[in-house]
Amino acid sequence: QLLFSGFSKTRENLAVIDELLTYWNLSDSENILDELEEALLISDFGPGTAMKIVESLRKDILNATLKSGPEIKVALKKIIVRLLTEKVSTTELQLGPSRPSVIMIVGVNGGGKTTTIGKLAHRFNKENVKVLMAAGDTFRAAASEQLEVWAERTGSEIVVGEGLKPRPATVLAEAVRQGVERDFDLVLCDTSGRLHTNYNLMEELRSCKRAVTKALPSAPNEVLLVLDGTTGLNMLPQAREFNQVIGVTGFVLTKLDGTARGGCVVSVVDELSIPVKFVGIGEGLNDLQPFDAEAFVDALFP
Ligand code: GDP
Repeated sequence: QLLFSGFSKTRENLAVIDELLTYWNLSDSENILDELEEALLISDFGPGTAMKIVESLRKDILNATLKSGPEIKVALKKIIVRLLTEKVSTTELQLGPSRPSVIMIVGVNGGGKTTTIGKLAHRFNKENVKVLMAAGDTFRAAASEQLEVWAERTGSEIVVGEGLKPRPATVLAEAVRQGVERDFDLVLCDTSGRLHTNYNLMEELRSCKRAVTKALPSAPNEVLLVLDGTTGLNMLPQAREFNQVIGVTGFVLTKLDGTARGGCVVSVVDELSIPVKFVGIGEGLNDLQPFDAEAFVDALFP
């Protein structure tokens, strides 16, 4: 239900497809497929992905496997689920078995990293998972304070940098060390969100990952890239670059409640073969949903 309401804007955008298919008939199918492709493009499915979807439908219409509007709708949904699942192994977080599990959260400023850490901590604390946060964004003055607020709200503990100019890698390594020593289940590492085009800062991110691994060889279990859903397809180059620099194991797509560009969820998985693990659909603690391809497609095409 939450997921359904979170995608209302994209769903409204795609409602035209329902109308098109209601009036579908074979003699007009080329025009209708063109309009369907257009509707997918407007919702940021991306040219390559939209074309794959439409080509697959066209093929099955021509060979008479698909013979009616409702059949086409079912096929459309199946194709999208396939695009979201066939190239990725699992959308579930891969944690443990060694403790603590460590998740690095990366992404550019303003995308929703800190909020996502708060939401994740809330989710885990509800399951009695003992969470330690690491305030690794030591460049932005207010970042640690913001994270401290989330730690308090979710009953988590937090490690912040000491001294005048703490290095992010030092803070993260210290948090992982404390995570081991004080028997935490999970360490959530915030990182700096400086622009991905700045080479030195990307280097900083690499050194953060190295420091985490040095502190605990099994870490990080996950590197989650937080992407701002309102940027739609513009997130693709960013996703590629982050992945090249540190290896991304999953995406968190935020702010999907505020955008009609929800098709980017499909294009980012299709282009990068990395799973979306969570979607952010609001600013509240509960507004983070584990990603489920079928529920997502049902939310778009009820
Ligand atoms: P950071 O700089 O990456 O740490 O980003 P923040 O976590 O500070 O988030 C930036 C803004 O986006 C804040 O105002 C958040 O409340 C808002 N935000 C984050 N996630 C979501 C979401 O899923 N939906 C909505 N509507 N807003 C969000």
